[in-house]
Order: sequence, then structure tokens, then C-alpha cells
Amino acid sequence: ETKQSVEWANDQLGSMQNAIVISRFGQHADIETDQGEILRCNIRRTAGSLVTGDIVAFRPAAESEQGLQGVIEAVEERRSLLTRPDVYDGIKPVAANIDQIFVVTSPLPAFSAQIIDRYLVACEDIAIRPVIVMNKADLIDEVNEDYIQNRLALYRDIGYQVAVVSAKEQHGLDQLTDLMANNVSVFVGQSGVGKSSLVNAILPQASIVTGDVSHNSGLGQHTTTVARLHRLPNHAALIDSPGIREFGLWHIEPERVTWGFREFRPYIGGCKFRDCKHRTDPGCALQAAVAEQKLDAERLQNYHRIIDSLEQA
Ligand code: GDP
Ligand code: ZN
Repeated sequence: ETKQSVEWANDQLGSMQNAIVISRFGQHADIETDQGEILRCNIRRTAGSLVTGDIVAFRPAAESEQGLQGVIEAVEERRSLLTRPDVYDGIKPVAANIDQIFVVTSPLPAFSAQIIDRYLVACEDIAIRPVIVMNKADLIDEVNEDYIQNRLALYRDIGYQVAVVSAKEQHGLDQLTDLMANNVSVFVGQSGVGKSSLVNAILPQASIVTGDVSHNSGLGQHTTTVARLHRLPNHAALIDSPGIREFGLWHIEPERVTWGFREFRPYIGGCKFRDCKHRTDPGCALQAAVAEQKLDAERLQNYHRIIDSLEQA
């Protein structure tokens, strides 16, 4: 059942207030006010495109109409935007104002530094801080331990936060919730690494938020494919949806891939040739740095794999 848009007269609306978009669906959005109240609102056409995480200016209605409780008038400029490719629109925004991306990995499915590096490049490209989460720490054993510890140490050296956790054993979750304080976060990663398990372990309040919305508006819950913002203690928020979890590397220029390997940045200008491919080119500063063990050989190898895969696409 599609609801008609409500047109309130100006004197039926209160003064302008700020809120954050919890979830958007069609012409309506659920928003949370600074007071923690959840309202289902109309979106004024002039407000522009809206996604979960957007900060909006809205006016509450004196009386609810068709379960709608106010009007969103405007959207604040975004500090970051997560997008995904879309057959019709080319690029589709999915969530705004995300501060950090938890890149979840695990010993099983097998730990892949190449996949991590692809996520890191994608995060650097949209200027959202990645945090590497090694889940299933309980599955680290003699066979995989040396390699995993070696890679995690490398990522720490490069300057990334690394959290080693186990959703199953409820280990290290405090570290994650500490990192989440005062931030808007999302979880991404391959299928099977434990994203759902982590989200479920961290989000005891999630169902309360969803419950409030359907209770207040009487409109019921809407599809879970829509990105949804969950409030957590310590001014933390988590945005989650199947689409967000599939976030990855797409449509990125080769130069930006180089830049996305953050420890390469000081060396890039040092190559002899401006169009250096950083392979066997003479005078390559990256190859020289690898030879001097200032840069990690596997990171450079993963760089080439990413470039190759983008060129094949
Ligand atoms: P997702 O696809 O990334 O959302 O992964 P799921 O959360 O569905 O987890 C995939 C599988 O890994 C499930 O069978 C979970 O029970 C299991 N799993 C999740 N976290 C852990 C963990 O910390 N340790 C172990 N041993 N298994 C886990
Ligand atoms: Zn080079």
C-alpha cells in the first residue's frame, strides 16, 4: 500500500529542528531527533536526495497525518558518502556521514591480504577511516598464525587500527564498542567472515529502535534491504544493510589505487618516469623501496593485482 504524501499548511508545522535519517523509503523517512524521538516524515521535494545517515532539518507536525509526523525541509552537506553501482543511475548513494568502516576478515574463510587491500583502497578513495577486524580469533592456530600475525603487524605499522575479536567467544567486543563511540560505523567484508554475528553481538538495542518506529507510526516495519541506522551507547551509531556489507572496490582510477596504498604515497613522486607502472620500470621508487625493505613486497604485489583486475573489468 503506497501512502499519499501529506501537504501540511505552514501553521500546522513547528519550528525547524535537526535530526538524523535512520532509514529512507520512497517519499518518506524515519528520522531521530536530537532528543532521541523517532518520527516518520514526508520529504519535501526540494530537500534533494536523502539517504540513511543524512543530517536533516525538519519541522514537526502539530498532528500526525497518515502516520506521518513532520516534513524534512533540507539536507546538510555530507562529510562522507558510501555509494554502489546501479544499473539505472550509474552511481547510487547508500549511506551518508560514515566515519569508519570495519573491514571484517577471518582465518576461515581463509584470510586474504589481497581482499583486505582492496577494501583499504576503497576506503581511502572515499576518505572513510578503515579499521581491520580479525574475527574468529578462536580459529587462529599453528597453521595460519604466523602469516596472520605478520600481516596484522604490517597493517598496524602502516597506521591502521586492528582489532582481533571473536563473535563466537564474545572476545574483544569491548574494543570494538570503544572504537565505535562518537562515530558512525559500518561493517563490510566477504560472506562468511562473521559480520552478522558481530552486528548481533554489538546491537542489543537495535530491535528496540525498530520496534519504536512501527509502534509510533502504526505503519509497520519496512524492508530490511534498506540501510538502517542503529543508535548505540556512547554516541555511537551503526548503519547496516545487505547492500552496505557488499561495499567494495569499483570504478576507481589507477592513480587513485596507488594513492590508496597509503605507505606508498611518499615514494610515488620519486619514480624516474611519470607514467611508471611500478613493475620492471627503471628508476621505480616503489620497487627500490621494496628492495630496501622499506615497503612490503606483498603489498606491492596486491597493488598490481588490483590494477590488473581493474584493467580486465
Ligand atoms: P557474514 O556472512 O559475514 O554475516 O557471517 P556470519 O555472521 O553469518 O557467520 C558465518 C559463520 O561463521 C557462522 O556459522 C557463524 O556462526 C560463524 N562465526 C561467526 N563468528 C565466529 C567466531 O568468532 N568464531 C567462529 N569459530 N565462528 C564464527
Ligand atoms: Zn614506480
